[in-house]
Amino acid sequence: VIQIGQPEHSKVTTCAYCGVGCSFKAEMRGEELVRMVPYKDGKANRGHSCVKGRFAYGYSTHKDRILNPMIREKITDPWREVSWDEAYKYVANEFRRLQYQYGRNSVGGITSSRCTNEETYLVQKLVRAGFGNNNVDTCARVCHSPTGYGLKTTFGTSAGTQDFDSVEHTDVVMVIGANPTDGHPVFASRLKKRLRKGAKLIVVDPRRIDLVRSPHVSAAQHLQLRPGTNVAVVTSLAHVVVTEGLFDEKFIRERCDWEEFQDWAAFVSSPEHSPEAIEELTGVDPQTLREAARLFATGGNGAIYYGLGVTEHSQGSTTVMAIANLAMATGNIGRKGVGVNPLRGQNNVQGSCDMGSFPHELPGYRHVSDESTRDIFDKLWGVKIQDEPGLRIPNMLDAAVDGTFKGIYIQGEDILQSDPDTKHVAAGLEAMECVVVHDLFLNETANYAHVFLPGSTFLEKDGTFTNAERRINRVRKVMSPLNGYADWEVTQNLAKAMGLNWNYTHPSQVMDEIAMTTPSFAGVSYELLEKEGSVQWPCNEKAPLGTPIMHIDGFARGKGKFIRTEYVATDERTGPRFPLLLTTGRILSQYNVGAQTRRTDNVMWHEEDRLEIHAHDAENRGIRDGDWVKISSRSGETTLRALITDRVSPGVVYTTFHHPTTQANVITTDFSDWATNCPEYKVTAVQVGASNGP
Ligand code: SF4
Repeated sequence: VIQIGQPEHSKVTTCAYCGVGCSFKAEMRGEELVRMVPYKDGKANRGHSCVKGRFAYGYSTHKDRILNPMIREKITDPWREVSWDEAYKYVANEFRRLQYQYGRNSVGGITSSRCTNEETYLVQKLVRAGFGNNNVDTCARVCHSPTGYGLKTTFGTSAGTQDFDSVEHTDVVMVIGANPTDGHPVFASRLKKRLRKGAKLIVVDPRRIDLVRSPHVSAAQHLQLRPGTNVAVVTSLAHVVVTEGLFDEKFIRERCDWEEFQDWAAFVSSPEHSPEAIEELTGVDPQTLREAARLFATGGNGAIYYGLGVTEHSQGSTTVMAIANLAMATGNIGRKGVGVNPLRGQNNVQGSCDMGSFPHELPGYRHVSDESTRDIFDKLWGVKIQDEPGLRIPNMLDAAVDGTFKGIYIQGEDILQSDPDTKHVAAGLEAMECVVVHDLFLNETANYAHVFLPGSTFLEKDGTFTNAERRINRVRKVMSPLNGYADWEVTQNLAKAMGLNWNYTHPSQVMDEIAMTTPSFAGVSYELLEKEGSVQWPCNEKAPLGTPIMHIDGFARGKGKFIRTEYVATDERTGPRFPLLLTTGRILSQYNVGAQTRRTDNVMWHEEDRLEIHAHDAENRGIRDGDWVKISSRSGETTLRALITDRVSPGVVYTTFHHPTTQANVITTDFSDWATNCPEYKVTAVQVGASNGP
């Protein structure tokens, strides 16, 4: 039930669901949110919205929210409500004790892509200045860390190249491993509008997503590849471009290293990369692949949009680099209508990465080994930052099991549900002596916590989110935090309890510090955001009003870098015991593990996760539509209802992962991207059989 009443006042803020970053007018009556109205001047959405941003805010006042800090010495003890001061003192004492007993590197922190830039900056500052190590990581580890690695290596900047407006100038759109209709609905609407005006579409996806065939648009080509073969397919597209002489020599000579290109061209030209040679491996019809490559190279402005179907693989970073190679080879970088565009999942994935949440990078993607960068922070913070990278989330968990990592501060992230190999995550958390969960609800990770610090929603705080197009949008406080404190205040109070002299009175001062220390944010201030509505980084002396399109005159790294992208099969193989490949995705009405959407009072949010299976595979197993089925893998098993569909090919099954009972991560593997440890969620060998239900 959506309650509508007459608003008394309103503020413009930013949706906290996905990386599109839609602006909304939050209309209030006193402290009550009456409705969210899509804001027509929002530069990312121009008055459009989807159901989540518009209606799914009921979770913010849900009875499940925890409003008082809680402590328990052992995870088997009952929770005990305590004052904020007692909670801060307890955490500070515990973390100091652990560091005294087990060493400086025995504790760490995790930032959240759901929190603001300012909050993320403060968590990494707490770890680096307070804990004195680089053991900070972000939940982007499990989604877009390969984007950061791949685009930094090839272009020099860990971010998408275009603004969303750019799609209006595109002639050929290639969508790889993304389902914008469900995952990024407002961007999908803009994309469909362009397609209706005549732009052509190529879809590279194991599943027939809505864009392939829907009432008003259809794809010119659908490369329905086997999960896990992205690198082979994208390299083969490059093979056709190079061997048929369709590359943009002028662009490459001017903007890239010609010798490097020649070396790469020789690599992709090898017959083993031809569409015919990879057909058996990928399942993609060679002629369809050739037509797609020709269309992309010769059809005018070509833009690539991709999602987690690219990154969440053992070769996630390699695929990102293969995509960058293809864009450079066809001259599709540095102007409107082209580019390489990761569609970010959570509202602030881009921002959490920008703000130095990785254990090897300080804010602005500068390596911790870089002395001149460390100097900036050392002087400002009065500390000595370590020059060695810290631990990533999986390494923290490994070290916990080994007995050397003992305490963690987790802000806004449910690692037990969202990280791979649930049993290992649980074992790591159980082995720690002080797990601090800072969140809205008692999530699954909180089952292993010793301290719970109540979190605040996006409606209860000021700050900024950075969307998929690098747009820094203001988040405005429209109601008082139910728990008394915004998340940035909680982190600050924790820092003070640990002896740090922090005195921010408003997140704008944190942004001023970000601008002072981080060149790509040098021109950003709340005054500018107030005046312009939003800006896209880099925003500095060279670009005082921001940068909608990157790499116009040259790549951020100088010359664009072509990388050889050798296909390496994942270690996850099908066989007689596990003959099917499971891949995963989202539905429009739910969001990630559903912590918010499942707590919003509207029946449409409660759609269950189903296992999509092809009729051929279902019939072989005696499964009918709607039957309960057991899905088992080498890691574990779970139970879902079957949905018989031709959206997936025989041999491939698919599910969403929005409900805790689905337990998708109980069955996924612990394989991960070779460069970033991003988990391989998109390929799991499974068996499916009849079941009586959970
Ligand atoms: Fe929110 Fe994304 Fe929907 Fe926009 S498209 S309203 S940002 S969930």
